[in-house]
Amino acid sequence: MGDEPLCDAIVEVIVGTDTARAVWPLVLDTLDRAHPAVIVLNDDTAHTGKSDSLTVGKAVPYGTYNWFFPLGTIAVATARWGSQTRLQLSRGAVAWVNNADVVALAPGTPPPGGIVESVRLVPGPRSLVLRVPLPTHVPFKVEEEEKNLTLRLYGVASDVNWMQYGGTDPYVTRMSYAQPAADEVTLTLALAGPVWGYRTRWSGRDLLLEIRRPPVIDPRRPLAGRTIVIDPGHPPVGAHGPSGLWEPVATLAVAQQAKALLERAGATVLLTRTDSNPVDLFPRTRFAEEHDADVLVSIHANALPDGVNPFTNNGTSVYYFHPRSAALARALDRALVVELGVRDLGMGRGDYALVRNPWFPSALTEGMFMMIPEQEAMLASPEGRLRYARGVARGIEEFLRGMAR
Ligand SMILES: [Zn+2]
Repeated sequence: MGDEPLCDAIVEVIVGTDTARAVWPLVLDTLDRAHPAVIVLNDDTAHTGKSDSLTVGKAVPYGTYNWFFPLGTIAVATARWGSQTRLQLSRGAVAWVNNADVVALAPGTPPPGGIVESVRLVPGPRSLVLRVPLPTHVPFKVEEEEKNLTLRLYGVASDVNWMQYGGTDPYVTRMSYAQPAADEVTLTLALAGPVWGYRTRWSGRDLLLEIRRPPVIDPRRPLAGRTIVIDPGHPPVGAHGPSGLWEPVATLAVAQQAKALLERAGATVLLTRTDSNPVDLFPRTRFAEEHDADVLVSIHANALPDGVNPFTNNGTSVYYFHPRSAALARALDRALVVELGVRDLGMGRGDYALVRNPWFPSALTEGMFMMIPEQEAMLASPEGRLRYARGVARGIEEFLRGMAR
Protein backbone atom coordinates (compact mmCIF):
# COMPACT_ATOMS: atom_id res chain seq x y z
CA MET A 1 0.00 0.00 0.00
CA GLY A 2 3.02 2.31 0.25
CA ASP A 3 2.06 5.64 1.82
CA GLU A 4 -1.60 5.31 0.93
CA PRO A 5 -4.09 5.51 3.82
CA LEU A 6 -6.07 2.32 4.36
CA CYS A 7 -9.76 2.57 3.66
CA ASP A 8 -12.46 -0.02 4.14
CA ALA A 9 -15.17 -0.88 1.69
CA ILE A 10 -18.48 -1.97 3.15
CA VAL A 11 -20.54 -4.69 1.52
CA GLU A 12 -24.23 -4.37 2.32
CA VAL A 13 -26.61 -7.27 1.75
CA ILE A 14 -30.35 -6.64 2.02
CA VAL A 15 -32.76 -9.60 2.10
CA GLY A 16 -36.32 -8.59 2.83
CA THR A 17 -36.11 -6.37 5.89
CA ASP A 18 -32.77 -7.81 7.06
CA THR A 19 -29.57 -5.94 6.36
CA ALA A 20 -26.08 -7.34 6.85
CA ARG A 21 -22.89 -5.29 6.55
CA ALA A 22 -19.31 -6.48 6.29
CA VAL A 23 -15.95 -4.87 5.72
CA TRP A 24 -14.67 -5.94 2.35
CA PRO A 25 -10.93 -6.56 2.08
CA LEU A 26 -10.00 -3.73 -0.23
CA VAL A 27 -6.72 -4.45 -1.95
CA LEU A 28 -5.36 -1.62 -3.98
CA ASP A 29 -2.89 -2.38 -6.69
CA THR A 30 -0.72 0.71 -6.35
CA LEU A 31 1.24 1.62 -9.43
CA ASP A 32 4.86 2.70 -9.30
CA ARG A 33 4.88 6.24 -7.93
CA ALA A 34 8.39 7.05 -9.08
CA HIS A 35 7.27 6.49 -12.67
CA PRO A 36 3.66 7.65 -12.78
CA ALA A 37 1.57 5.99 -15.47
CA VAL A 38 0.37 8.74 -17.74
CA ILE A 39 -2.83 7.71 -19.49
CA VAL A 40 -5.30 9.09 -21.98
CA LEU A 41 -9.02 8.52 -21.63
CA ASN A 42 -10.03 6.45 -24.67
CA ASP A 43 -8.50 8.51 -27.41
CA ASP A 44 -11.39 10.00 -29.38
CA THR A 45 -10.28 8.82 -32.78
CA ALA A 46 -13.53 9.94 -34.38
CA HIS A 47 -13.13 13.47 -32.91
CA THR A 48 -16.87 13.74 -32.60
CA GLY A 49 -16.65 16.45 -29.94
CA LYS A 50 -20.16 15.59 -28.75
CA SER A 51 -21.12 15.95 -25.13
CA ASP A 52 -21.61 12.21 -24.85
CA SER A 53 -18.01 11.38 -25.78
CA LEU A 54 -17.30 11.26 -22.10
CA THR A 55 -15.72 9.12 -19.43
CA VAL A 56 -17.37 9.40 -16.03
CA GLY A 57 -15.23 9.87 -12.94
CA LYS A 58 -16.27 8.90 -9.42
CA ALA A 59 -14.88 9.97 -6.04
CA VAL A 60 -14.88 6.32 -4.89
CA PRO A 61 -14.69 3.14 -6.99
CA TYR A 62 -18.07 2.46 -8.63
CA GLY A 63 -19.45 5.60 -6.96
CA THR A 64 -21.72 8.39 -8.11
CA TYR A 65 -20.79 10.19 -11.29
CA ASN A 66 -18.94 13.37 -10.33
CA TRP A 67 -16.75 14.19 -13.34
CA PHE A 68 -17.43 13.99 -17.06
CA PHE A 69 -14.05 13.85 -18.78
CA PRO A 70 -14.03 14.27 -22.53
CA LEU A 71 -12.22 11.55 -24.42
CA GLY A 72 -8.63 12.57 -24.96
CA THR A 73 -8.18 13.84 -21.39
CA ILE A 74 -4.66 13.08 -20.12
CA ALA A 75 -4.11 12.17 -16.47
CA VAL A 76 -1.87 10.25 -14.08
CA ALA A 77 -3.06 6.79 -12.94
CA THR A 78 -1.89 5.86 -9.43
CA ALA A 79 -3.86 2.74 -8.49
CA ARG A 80 -6.17 0.04 -9.71
CA TRP A 81 -8.95 -1.77 -7.88
CA GLY A 82 -11.09 -4.37 -9.62
CA SER A 83 -12.25 -2.84 -12.86
CA GLN A 84 -11.50 0.71 -11.64
CA THR A 85 -8.45 2.95 -12.10
CA ARG A 86 -7.62 5.84 -9.79
CA LEU A 87 -6.54 9.09 -11.40
CA GLN A 88 -4.64 11.68 -9.38
CA LEU A 89 -6.17 14.87 -10.79
CA SER A 90 -4.26 17.16 -8.46
CA ARG A 91 -2.61 16.74 -5.06
CA GLY A 92 -6.03 17.10 -3.42
CA ALA A 93 -8.36 15.38 -5.89
CA VAL A 94 -8.69 11.79 -7.12
CA ALA A 95 -11.22 10.30 -9.51
CA TRP A 96 -11.99 6.68 -10.30
CA VAL A 97 -12.75 5.63 -13.86
CA ASN A 98 -13.37 2.31 -15.61
CA ASN A 99 -10.19 0.47 -16.63
CA ALA A 100 -11.75 0.01 -20.05
CA ASP A 101 -11.65 3.78 -20.61
CA VAL A 102 -7.93 4.04 -19.82
CA VAL A 103 -5.20 3.80 -22.46
CA ALA A 104 -1.57 3.90 -21.24
CA LEU A 105 0.72 6.36 -22.99
CA ALA A 106 4.33 5.54 -23.83
CA PRO A 107 6.62 5.17 -20.78
CA GLY A 108 8.39 8.45 -20.13
CA THR A 109 5.42 10.60 -21.23
CA PRO A 110 5.49 13.60 -18.88
CA PRO A 111 2.50 13.99 -16.53
CA PRO A 112 0.03 16.66 -17.65
CA GLY A 113 0.46 20.03 -16.04
CA GLY A 114 1.77 23.50 -16.58
CA ILE A 115 0.35 26.95 -16.80
CA VAL A 116 -3.11 28.24 -17.71
CA GLU A 117 -2.54 31.22 -19.93
CA SER A 118 -4.77 34.22 -20.48
CA VAL A 119 -8.32 33.40 -21.41
CA ARG A 120 -10.68 35.07 -23.82
CA LEU A 121 -14.48 35.18 -23.97
CA VAL A 122 -15.90 35.48 -27.46
CA PRO A 123 -19.59 36.50 -27.55
CA GLY A 124 -21.81 35.15 -30.34
CA PRO A 125 -25.50 35.66 -31.08
CA ARG A 126 -26.73 32.42 -29.41
CA SER A 127 -23.80 31.45 -27.23
CA LEU A 128 -20.49 32.68 -25.84
CA VAL A 129 -17.24 30.75 -26.06
CA LEU A 130 -14.60 30.87 -23.33
CA ARG A 131 -11.26 29.91 -24.86
CA VAL A 132 -8.72 28.58 -22.33
CA PRO A 133 -5.18 27.96 -23.64
CA LEU A 134 -3.72 24.93 -21.84
CA PRO A 135 -0.41 23.06 -21.95
CA THR A 136 -2.24 19.80 -22.68
CA HIS A 137 -5.65 18.15 -22.29
CA VAL A 138 -5.72 18.33 -18.49
CA PRO A 139 -8.71 17.02 -16.49
CA PHE A 140 -11.37 19.60 -15.69
CA LYS A 141 -14.86 19.97 -14.29
CA VAL A 142 -17.66 22.45 -14.95
CA GLU A 143 -19.51 23.40 -11.77
CA GLU A 144 -22.96 24.89 -12.09
CA GLU A 145 -24.83 27.19 -9.76
CA GLU A 146 -28.01 29.16 -10.38
CA LYS A 147 -26.27 32.11 -12.03
CA ASN A 148 -22.65 30.95 -12.06
CA LEU A 149 -20.48 28.60 -14.06
CA THR A 150 -17.08 27.63 -12.72
CA LEU A 151 -14.47 25.82 -14.78
CA ARG A 152 -12.10 23.89 -12.47
CA LEU A 153 -8.80 22.85 -14.05
CA TYR A 154 -6.67 20.17 -12.37
CA GLY A 155 -2.92 19.84 -12.28
CA VAL A 156 -2.21 23.35 -13.47
CA ALA A 157 -1.11 26.68 -12.04
CA SER A 158 -2.41 30.07 -13.04
CA ASP A 159 -0.68 32.59 -15.18
CA VAL A 160 -3.98 34.22 -16.09
CA ASN A 161 -2.83 37.81 -16.04
CA TRP A 162 -5.69 38.99 -18.12
CA MET A 163 -9.15 37.94 -19.14
CA GLN A 164 -10.66 39.55 -22.13
CA TYR A 165 -14.39 39.78 -22.61
CA GLY A 166 -16.95 42.09 -24.07
CA GLY A 167 -17.58 44.31 -21.08
CA THR A 168 -20.93 45.18 -22.57
CA ASP A 169 -22.21 41.64 -22.94
CA PRO A 170 -25.59 41.46 -21.18
CA TYR A 171 -25.31 37.80 -20.15
CA VAL A 172 -21.82 37.38 -18.69
CA THR A 173 -21.53 40.15 -16.16
CA ARG A 174 -18.22 39.23 -14.53
CA MET A 175 -15.34 36.82 -14.91
CA SER A 176 -12.83 35.96 -12.23
CA TYR A 177 -10.08 33.45 -11.66
CA ALA A 178 -8.59 31.89 -8.58
CA GLN A 179 -6.03 29.34 -7.57
CA PRO A 180 -7.63 27.46 -4.65
CA ALA A 181 -4.71 24.99 -4.51
CA ALA A 182 -1.14 24.93 -5.80
CA ASP A 183 -2.24 22.80 -8.71
CA GLU A 184 -5.88 23.78 -9.32
CA VAL A 185 -7.21 26.83 -11.13
CA THR A 186 -10.81 28.01 -11.28
CA LEU A 187 -12.38 30.40 -13.78
CA THR A 188 -15.81 31.69 -12.75
CA LEU A 189 -18.39 33.41 -14.94
CA ALA A 190 -21.17 35.34 -13.22
CA LEU A 191 -24.30 35.41 -15.36
CA ALA A 192 -27.11 37.95 -15.55
CA GLY A 193 -29.69 35.17 -15.96
CA PRO A 194 -30.08 31.46 -15.22
CA VAL A 195 -27.69 28.84 -16.56
CA TRP A 196 -29.45 27.37 -19.63
CA GLY A 197 -26.80 25.11 -21.11
CA TYR A 198 -23.13 24.63 -21.86
CA ARG A 199 -20.77 22.20 -23.54
CA THR A 200 -17.02 21.77 -23.83
CA ARG A 201 -14.65 20.67 -26.56
CA TRP A 202 -10.94 20.78 -27.41
CA SER A 203 -9.58 22.99 -30.15
CA GLY A 204 -5.96 22.00 -30.49
CA ARG A 205 -4.69 22.33 -26.92
CA ASP A 206 -7.26 25.01 -26.08
CA LEU A 207 -10.30 24.10 -24.04
CA LEU A 208 -13.49 25.73 -25.29
CA LEU A 209 -16.41 26.20 -22.90
CA GLU A 210 -19.48 27.20 -24.90
CA ILE A 211 -22.25 28.82 -22.87
CA ARG A 212 -25.78 29.09 -24.24
CA ARG A 213 -27.73 32.29 -23.96
CA PRO A 214 -31.15 31.66 -22.37
CA PRO A 215 -34.04 31.96 -24.87
CA VAL A 216 -36.13 35.12 -24.84
CA ILE A 217 -39.49 33.94 -23.50
CA ASP A 218 -42.85 35.71 -23.77
CA PRO A 219 -44.53 35.06 -20.37
CA ARG A 220 -47.99 35.19 -22.01
CA ARG A 221 -47.02 32.59 -24.65
CA PRO A 222 -44.00 30.85 -23.12
CA LEU A 223 -43.99 28.03 -25.68
CA ALA A 224 -44.05 30.29 -28.73
CA GLY A 225 -40.86 29.85 -30.72
CA ARG A 226 -39.41 27.21 -28.40
CA THR A 227 -37.88 23.94 -29.59
CA ILE A 228 -38.98 21.04 -27.39
CA VAL A 229 -37.64 17.51 -27.77
CA ILE A 230 -39.82 14.75 -26.32
CA ASP A 231 -38.27 11.34 -25.77
CA PRO A 232 -40.71 8.40 -25.58
CA GLY A 233 -38.93 6.05 -23.19
CA HIS A 234 -37.45 2.84 -24.69
CA PRO A 235 -37.15 0.50 -26.63
CA PRO A 236 -34.86 -1.38 -26.27
CA VAL A 237 -36.29 -2.84 -23.02
CA GLY A 238 -39.23 -1.19 -21.27
CA ALA A 239 -41.58 -2.48 -18.60
CA HIS A 240 -44.61 -4.72 -19.13
CA GLY A 241 -47.83 -4.24 -17.16
CA PRO A 242 -49.77 -7.16 -15.61
CA SER A 243 -52.18 -7.31 -18.54
CA GLY A 244 -49.41 -6.99 -21.11
CA LEU A 245 -49.19 -3.28 -21.98
CA TRP A 246 -45.59 -2.51 -23.06
CA GLU A 247 -44.11 0.78 -21.77
CA PRO A 248 -42.72 1.96 -25.17
CA VAL A 249 -46.19 1.69 -26.74
CA ALA A 250 -47.77 3.85 -24.04
CA THR A 251 -44.95 6.42 -23.94
CA LEU A 252 -44.99 6.91 -27.73
CA ALA A 253 -48.75 7.56 -27.64
CA VAL A 254 -48.31 10.04 -24.76
CA ALA A 255 -45.43 11.76 -26.59
CA GLN A 256 -47.49 12.16 -29.76
CA GLN A 257 -50.34 13.74 -27.78
CA ALA A 258 -47.92 16.04 -25.96
CA LYS A 259 -46.40 17.07 -29.30
CA ALA A 260 -49.84 18.11 -30.59
CA LEU A 261 -50.57 20.14 -27.44
CA LEU A 262 -47.19 21.89 -27.43
CA GLU A 263 -47.39 22.69 -31.14
CA ARG A 264 -50.81 24.26 -30.63
CA ALA A 265 -49.12 26.57 -28.10
CA GLY A 266 -46.50 27.64 -30.65
CA ALA A 267 -43.58 25.28 -30.03
CA THR A 268 -41.60 23.24 -32.52
CA VAL A 269 -41.65 19.68 -31.20
CA LEU A 270 -39.38 16.82 -32.21
CA LEU A 271 -39.64 13.22 -31.00
CA THR A 272 -36.55 11.05 -30.57
CA ARG A 273 -38.47 8.14 -32.08
CA THR A 274 -41.74 7.82 -34.02
CA ASP A 275 -42.04 4.04 -34.28
CA SER A 276 -41.13 0.99 -32.19
CA ASN A 277 -37.59 0.57 -33.55
CA PRO A 278 -35.02 0.57 -30.71
CA VAL A 279 -32.95 3.74 -30.20
CA ASP A 280 -29.93 3.82 -27.86
CA LEU A 281 -29.70 6.39 -25.09
CA PHE A 282 -26.90 8.62 -26.42
CA PRO A 283 -28.39 9.11 -29.90
CA ARG A 284 -31.49 10.46 -28.15
CA THR A 285 -29.67 13.21 -26.28
CA ARG A 286 -27.37 13.87 -29.25
CA PHE A 287 -30.51 14.38 -31.39
CA ALA A 288 -31.77 16.97 -28.88
CA GLU A 289 -28.38 18.72 -28.82
CA GLU A 290 -28.11 18.79 -32.60
CA HIS A 291 -31.52 20.46 -32.78
CA ASP A 292 -30.62 22.96 -30.04
CA ALA A 293 -33.54 21.84 -27.90
CA ASP A 294 -34.63 24.44 -25.35
CA VAL A 295 -35.99 21.62 -23.19
CA LEU A 296 -35.80 17.80 -23.29
CA VAL A 297 -38.39 15.66 -21.51
CA SER A 298 -38.16 11.86 -21.46
CA ILE A 299 -41.48 10.10 -20.83
CA HIS A 300 -41.63 6.80 -18.93
CA ALA A 301 -43.94 4.57 -16.92
CA ASN A 302 -42.44 3.12 -13.78
CA ALA A 303 -41.86 -0.52 -13.02
CA LEU A 304 -40.27 -1.67 -9.76
CA PRO A 305 -38.07 0.71 -7.81
CA ASP A 306 -35.21 -1.05 -6.06
CA GLY A 307 -36.22 -2.65 -2.80
CA VAL A 308 -39.62 -0.93 -2.64
CA ASN A 309 -43.03 -2.54 -2.78
CA PRO A 310 -44.83 -0.90 -5.74
CA PHE A 311 -48.24 -1.63 -4.26
CA THR A 312 -47.58 0.70 -1.34
CA ASN A 313 -45.23 3.12 -3.13
CA ASN A 314 -46.62 4.15 -6.46
CA GLY A 315 -47.56 7.35 -8.21
CA THR A 316 -45.85 10.19 -10.02
CA SER A 317 -42.15 11.01 -9.82
CA VAL A 318 -39.81 13.16 -11.93
CA TYR A 319 -36.00 13.03 -12.15
CA TYR A 320 -33.38 15.59 -13.14
CA PHE A 321 -29.59 15.86 -12.93
CA HIS A 322 -28.27 19.41 -13.44
CA PRO A 323 -29.22 22.08 -10.87
CA ARG A 324 -30.95 24.23 -13.50
CA SER A 325 -33.32 21.35 -14.30
CA ALA A 326 -34.75 21.19 -10.76
CA ALA A 327 -37.34 23.88 -11.62
CA LEU A 328 -38.38 21.89 -14.71
CA ALA A 329 -38.73 18.68 -12.67
CA ARG A 330 -40.79 20.50 -10.03
CA ALA A 331 -43.14 22.03 -12.61
CA LEU A 332 -43.62 18.68 -14.35
CA ASP A 333 -44.24 16.85 -11.09
CA ARG A 334 -46.88 19.39 -10.00
CA ALA A 335 -48.67 19.37 -13.35
CA LEU A 336 -48.64 15.56 -13.62
CA VAL A 337 -50.00 15.07 -10.10
CA VAL A 338 -52.89 17.43 -10.89
CA GLU A 339 -53.64 15.74 -14.22
CA LEU A 340 -53.19 12.11 -13.23
CA GLY A 341 -54.55 12.26 -9.71
CA VAL A 342 -52.14 9.62 -8.36
CA ARG A 343 -49.87 9.87 -5.35
CA ASP A 344 -47.02 12.41 -5.51
CA LEU A 345 -43.73 10.59 -4.98
CA GLY A 346 -41.93 13.86 -5.62
CA MET A 347 -38.90 14.80 -7.64
CA GLY A 348 -35.41 13.43 -7.36
CA ARG A 349 -31.94 13.83 -8.71
CA GLY A 350 -31.17 10.85 -10.91
CA ASP A 351 -28.04 9.63 -12.64
CA TYR A 352 -29.85 8.92 -15.91
CA ALA A 353 -28.22 9.37 -19.31
CA LEU A 354 -31.34 11.09 -20.65
CA VAL A 355 -31.01 13.99 -18.19
CA ARG A 356 -27.22 14.42 -18.14
CA ASN A 357 -26.56 16.28 -21.40
CA PRO A 358 -25.60 19.79 -20.22
CA TRP A 359 -26.78 21.66 -23.35
CA PHE A 360 -30.39 22.12 -22.13
CA PRO A 361 -32.58 21.68 -19.06
CA SER A 362 -34.04 18.17 -19.05
CA ALA A 363 -36.18 15.88 -16.91
CA LEU A 364 -37.45 12.31 -16.94
CA THR A 365 -41.08 11.69 -15.96
CA GLU A 366 -42.37 8.50 -14.39
CA GLY A 367 -46.01 9.58 -14.53
CA MET A 368 -47.60 6.29 -13.52
CA PHE A 369 -46.76 2.71 -12.62
CA MET A 370 -47.12 -0.03 -15.23
CA MET A 371 -47.39 -2.60 -12.43
CA ILE A 372 -50.52 -1.15 -10.84
CA PRO A 373 -53.59 -2.47 -12.73
CA GLU A 374 -55.56 0.82 -12.52
CA GLN A 375 -52.57 2.86 -13.71
CA GLU A 376 -51.81 0.38 -16.47
CA ALA A 377 -55.45 0.71 -17.60
CA MET A 378 -55.10 4.49 -17.63
CA LEU A 379 -51.90 4.24 -19.69
CA ALA A 380 -53.72 1.98 -22.13
CA SER A 381 -56.68 4.36 -22.58
CA PRO A 382 -56.83 7.41 -24.89
CA GLU A 383 -58.18 9.47 -21.96
CA GLY A 384 -55.32 8.47 -19.62
CA ARG A 385 -52.71 9.14 -22.29
CA LEU A 386 -54.18 12.57 -22.96
CA ARG A 387 -54.03 13.37 -19.24
CA TYR A 388 -50.36 12.32 -19.08
CA ALA A 389 -49.66 14.42 -22.19
CA ARG A 390 -51.44 17.44 -20.71
CA GLY A 391 -49.34 17.15 -17.57
CA VAL A 392 -46.13 17.11 -19.62
CA ALA A 393 -47.18 20.06 -21.78
CA ARG A 394 -48.37 22.13 -18.81
CA GLY A 395 -45.26 21.33 -16.82
CA ILE A 396 -42.98 22.53 -19.63
CA GLU A 397 -45.11 25.65 -20.12
CA GLU A 398 -45.02 26.51 -16.41
CA PHE A 399 -41.25 26.01 -16.27
CA LEU A 400 -40.74 28.36 -19.22
CA ARG A 401 -43.14 30.92 -17.75
CA GLY A 402 -41.14 30.86 -14.54
CA MET A 403 -37.91 31.39 -16.48
CA ALA A 404 -39.43 34.38 -18.30
CA ARG A 405 -39.61 36.29 -15.03
ZN1 LIG B 1 -38.75 3.45 -18.48
